[in-house]
Order: sequence, then C-alpha cells, then structure tokens
Amino acid sequence: MASELVTCAPHPEEPLSDYVRRLRQQRSWTQFQLSEAAGVHRQTIGKIESGDSQRLNRRVRKGLALALSIPLEYLEAVCDGADVPSVVRLKFCPQCWVPGTAPESMWTDPRSHYCFGCGTELTHRCQQCKESILSLQFRFCPYCGNSYKPAASP
Ligand SMILES: [Zn+2]
Ligand SMILES: [Zn+2]
Repeated sequence: MASELVTCAPHPEEPLSDYVRRLRQQRSWTQFQLSEAAGVHRQTIGKIESGDSQRLNRRVRKGLALALSIPLEYLEAVCDGADVPSVVRLKFCPQCWVPGTAPESMWTDPRSHYCFGCGTELTHRCQQCKESILSLQFRFCPYCGNSYKPAASP
C-alpha cells in the first residue's frame, strides 16, 4: 500500500488548506460531503480550505483523518508544521503499547529498533498481513482486521 500512502501524504510545504482540498477532490467530494463524512461543520471545512483555520482541535483532526482515510499523523504534521518524513514510519512495541494511545516518541525515533522498556523488537507492520501500520489511533489493521496488539499470552 506504499503508493497509496504516498498519494495521501502531504507534499513538502503544502499548507493545510491545499492538503485538505486536494484529498477531498481526489474523492470527488463537495465540501458538504466531506463535512458529513467527518462529522465536522460545513463552515469549518470552508474555513480550513480558505486557509482561515490552521490549528484544528483534536475532534476535527480525527474526523478529517477518518473521513479521508489518512493517518492522523499526516494531518497533525501539516497542522503543526512538523516534518512529515519523521512521522511516516510508525513503530511501536507490541508488548508495551496501549492501543488507541500515541506511541512513545522513543519508539518512533528512526534510530530505535528495540523497546527501551522491555527490549522487544519494535514493529511497524501488522503481524498478520505485514501491511504497514497506517495510524496508531487504529486498534485493528484496516487490511485484515487483525488486532495490532496481540492478546496477552495466557
Ligand atoms: Zn516494550
Ligand atoms: Zn493486517
């Protein structure tokens, strides 16, 4: 799915307004359709796309990421002006990570390969289908439905 991730990744220096509009147009959606899908007020979408709204609250970010099927991390990088490449590779410790919470920054550091807490090898793929993890906001793999965090061993 690498190619899909590339087309939905923000371009370097791409402002939030252009990014949201581009993804919306990729889907041939009107602003109204996007607002419905994201559960966000139609005026908010208009403000975002006209560049009047740069700092989105968490609820809006989550709604947009879900509606546009992009990793929340992409949207956050664009909102916060962070480097996108640093967030593209998500890694986590399959033992310590609590699903639905942000990963420890020490896991996502490109130099980390093992968990600082328990020494388990970090992973960035679904253990079942080996697709890259799109967002650690998800608890389950969108490709195969496998839980990202294996059930605790009995
Ligand atoms: Zn660990
Ligand atoms: Zn999977």
